[in-house]
Amino acid sequence: MNVPTKLDFAQEVRAERLSLLWKVTLLASVFVVWAALVFTSLSAISPLDFVIPVLMIVVGCILCRWLLSLNRYEPAVWAYVGGLFLGLGWLIYAPVAWSEVARTMIGFSFPLIIVIVGFLLPIRSTLIALLVGLAIELIAPSLGREFTIERSQIYSAFLMALAAGIAVQMSGTLYGIAEWALESYRKERETKDQLFDSQQEVQRSYLRQKALAEQLQEANVELEAARAAAIEAKNFRGQFLANMSHELRTPLNAIIGFSETMLNFPMMYDNQSLPPAYKTDLGQIYTSGKHLLQLINDILDLSKVDAGKLDLEIEQVELEPIFKGVLATATGLIGDKPIKLKRDIPAKLPLVQGDSLRIRQVILNLLSNSAKFTDEGAITLGARDEGNGEVTLWVSDTGIGIPPQDMDKIFEEFRQGTSGRRKGRAGSGLGLAISRQLLNLMGGRIWAESTPGKGSTFYFTLPVYTPEPVEQQG
Ligand code: ADP
Repeated sequence: MNVPTKLDFAQEVRAERLSLLWKVTLLASVFVVWAALVFTSLSAISPLDFVIPVLMIVVGCILCRWLLSLNRYEPAVWAYVGGLFLGLGWLIYAPVAWSEVARTMIGFSFPLIIVIVGFLLPIRSTLIALLVGLAIELIAPSLGREFTIERSQIYSAFLMALAAGIAVQMSGTLYGIAEWALESYRKERETKDQLFDSQQEVQRSYLRQKALAEQLQEANVELEAARAAAIEAKNFRGQFLANMSHELRTPLNAIIGFSETMLNFPMMYDNQSLPPAYKTDLGQIYTSGKHLLQLINDILDLSKVDAGKLDLEIEQVELEPIFKGVLATATGLIGDKPIKLKRDIPAKLPLVQGDSLRIRQVILNLLSNSAKFTDEGAITLGARDEGNGEVTLWVSDTGIGIPPQDMDKIFEEFRQGTSGRRKGRAGSGLGLAISRQLLNLMGGRIWAESTPGKGSTFYFTLPVYTPEPVEQQG
């Protein structure tokens, strides 16, 4: 796009003035013709004496309009001024019975034309117009007659010179003012354009925002639907697992019960002892059955947690009896491995708050993991009162340890560390996940520290029991 220059603006404004001038002139001419017709019908003057000069002016105006439409500004001004000079010159020259006063008046309109040129064209053109005006004013009345110069002609010539002088003088100042005005006009136009642009920009961003809001709304609806579907799926999974676990436990209990009876109670079978080869396989059936039952119990627990249906019996719990029980079980878990079972428990521990069965389950999970992942050394069960309303318990071992990259995932469901997948270490990847869920429900936390090759320590906390404030009887 072309950026309009100052000159373009100046030209534009002057062209507007010029087109106003020719229109006014044309209108005035039509009025003069009409007045002339009325006037001449009463007197002896021929209408042609008016019509010819007026035609000259009209032709000048039409030429001016045509040149303006072609964007030829300077020739347009000359066409307009030329028409005026010729028309008025003809009136001065015309040998009609024509009042001397009217002729003098017409002579005095020449300075006005010169002023118009002064304002519309540069100084050089004003001087040319002055010369033309002087020539017409001084020579036209004497054309074809004896050359005389009347006093009114000298006055008119003097006025023309004066008008030219003033026009030249003022056009400089006026040019400055016009420049200033044009500059302000240009700035105002620019501001208007900028405003228009900003308005469009605001409109565009409003539409963009509206579209985004609509998208967001749609996304929200979809998200809500997805959330509902996910909740439904989770509940369904919980329900499905609970049913499945229940259905599996019944036949499994039969398998475990019968294999145990066959192994340990030969009196039930008329004291007929099993051949040793059978005993080994039956022992395998019994251990695998127990393992499967443990797995099913874990799944059942997790599905209950998922469905929010795991009921805990939260009460005050004394830890010492639990420790005794789990340590006895742990001895069995270690078997004949060269591992020392140690305890690091102060003589006095506060009562804690929780479900004693579940606390036992968590400690046993940890001890059985330690027994599983330790080949020699020691397994220690420890506890201490933190003095801040929490008791911390831990199980540490000198086992294979856990690589740092596994530390986060071992607490997730069905996730095992690299060690867990080692041959000969049966596991489901559920023990720690359940322990974490149970502790969450009891208001505790669980975390682990480990150095691969040296051992691991699993810590968990339980809140110290605080008796309910007894309500004062009023
Ligand atoms: P799993 O049935 O596999 O033992 P857990 O949830 O109890 O499931 O443990 C998850 C994983 O954490 C295990 O597979 C093992 O990789 C790792 N882990 C847990 N306890 C120990 C430990 N004491 N020493 C080394 N690795 C352990």
